[in-house]
Amino acid sequence: MDYEAVIGLETHVQLKTKSKMWCGCANAFGSPPNTNVCPVCLGLPGVLPVPNEEALRKTVLTGYLLNCEIPRFAKFDRKSYFYPDMPKNYQLTQYDRPSTATGFVEFEFNGGLARVRITRAHLEEDVGKSTHFERHSGVDFNRAGVPLMEIVSEPDLTSSAMAYEYLNALKDILIQGGVSDCDMEKGMVRCDVNVSVRPVGTRELGAKIEIKNMNSFSGVRRALDYEIPRQIEAVKRGEKLVQSTRRWDDVAGITELMRTKEDAHDYRYFPDPDLMPLAPTDAWLAEVESLAVELPLARKQRFMRDYQLPVGDAEVFKSNAALGNYFEGLARQSKNPKAVANWIINNLLAKLAAANESRSRGDEAQNENSELDQSLLQSALPIALADLKFPPSALLELVALVENRTISSSAAQQVFTEMFATGKSPAAIVQEKGLAQVSDTGAIEKYCDEAIAANPNPVADYRAGKVAALNSLKGQVMKLSKGKANPALVGEILERKLKG
Ligand code: ADP
Ligand code: MG
Ligand code: ZN
Repeated sequence: MDYEAVIGLETHVQLKTKSKMWCGCANAFGSPPNTNVCPVCLGLPGVLPVPNEEALRKTVLTGYLLNCEIPRFAKFDRKSYFYPDMPKNYQLTQYDRPSTATGFVEFEFNGGLARVRITRAHLEEDVGKSTHFERHSGVDFNRAGVPLMEIVSEPDLTSSAMAYEYLNALKDILIQGGVSDCDMEKGMVRCDVNVSVRPVGTRELGAKIEIKNMNSFSGVRRALDYEIPRQIEAVKRGEKLVQSTRRWDDVAGITELMRTKEDAHDYRYFPDPDLMPLAPTDAWLAEVESLAVELPLARKQRFMRDYQLPVGDAEVFKSNAALGNYFEGLARQSKNPKAVANWIINNLLAKLAAANESRSRGDEAQNENSELDQSLLQSALPIALADLKFPPSALLELVALVENRTISSSAAQQVFTEMFATGKSPAAIVQEKGLAQVSDTGAIEKYCDEAIAANPNPVADYRAGKVAALNSLKGQVMKLSKGKANPALVGEILERKLKG
């Protein structure tokens, strides 16, 4: 009998807000321990939480981005348990009345489109962080009370590869929507993986096994690549799997049992008496919905359709939203969007990467002398599109110069390099460096006559029917013109002269 995997993911995402969920403390990563704290997020007795509207807005926005329903009633509940990094001894979360419900995510998978249903995306709060030293442990409450959104999927995923693609698609959507920076290195996205197996062709779900607290997408994939065969082998041996929670050991590459259902918590959920239920108005919902951006996949498909871009180009603009906006701003005004895309992808990106690399190399050298220089940290930021010395219109001008054959494509490379470095206009650079092609037929006729006179062999070959011999004559004419003759005109004139 063959078995298949059934996977559902609970993805926790830190929201991009200035302040925490219930107080005015900064929602910032990397501050010294316990510096972004106050009586509210330290859970001192008698304090009152005040909900962060921006966090609510971003949760509901996520609902719109994930095609969810937005209930007109939501509330916060206390989930009670004890853990040293959770000062209130309960976590505030939306238990049975979340801010969003039933949606879906679509993404490319296996050459087609996959759709995973979303059960809900609800708002809760992050906890502090414990660190275990050799002789003692420390708790940092900077993260306590940071707005955390949990996106729960239906058990629609069927493989580790699919789970991986789903997570990446979700991340792209949240970044593009401005909901979260999704910086994995800073722990902004964490995932609980639920997985069971069942005989192929059956509907009933097997015992759910949850792998807690995964902090990388590749970790999720590896954990599933271990866990799925483990479960299949177990049931094939006749073992009965039971609902349980496991831990992923990233070094050993295995999952280990933490606890079974019998010792599951009773969280004693109840509505938080300090927080009013939420009843978003039409006006507020309309405002949030207006913030919903185009999804990355939709943008990719639209760019292929509207600008006839090949899939590779559209993919670049899908995963780099700012670059996509830059492209589209130009493509709308251009008769040749593909040429615009080529300049951006083949030339601009390469130049930006090189400039950023030399900048960061320069910084490293200087860093040895001065450790905490703010201006250095600033300059280590990547050079962005907004910092370009030339205006976007210059790129259109450049494309037009090639298109109307004022300059050759190799001259255009020179022009681009110069305009990237100095911000000068393409026309000025062409003028200054004398790069304009010669399109004056009289001058080209003269070069052609010279080339024909000086190269009797290719001329004879061509007249004898060897069409390729024309290339060598073309090359001669280009040489005589110092590369400036318009190659298309050269071809036409040579042919006319040789046939005549
Ligand atoms: P809990 O209440 O314990 O959190 P839920 O039923 O809400 O459990 O499901 C949590 C996650 O587990 C969801 O993403 C869901 O799709 C997934 N899930 C539920 N049952 C199974 C199962 N049998 N196999 C795999 N995933 C499951
Ligand atoms: Mg769970
Ligand atoms: Zn606080």
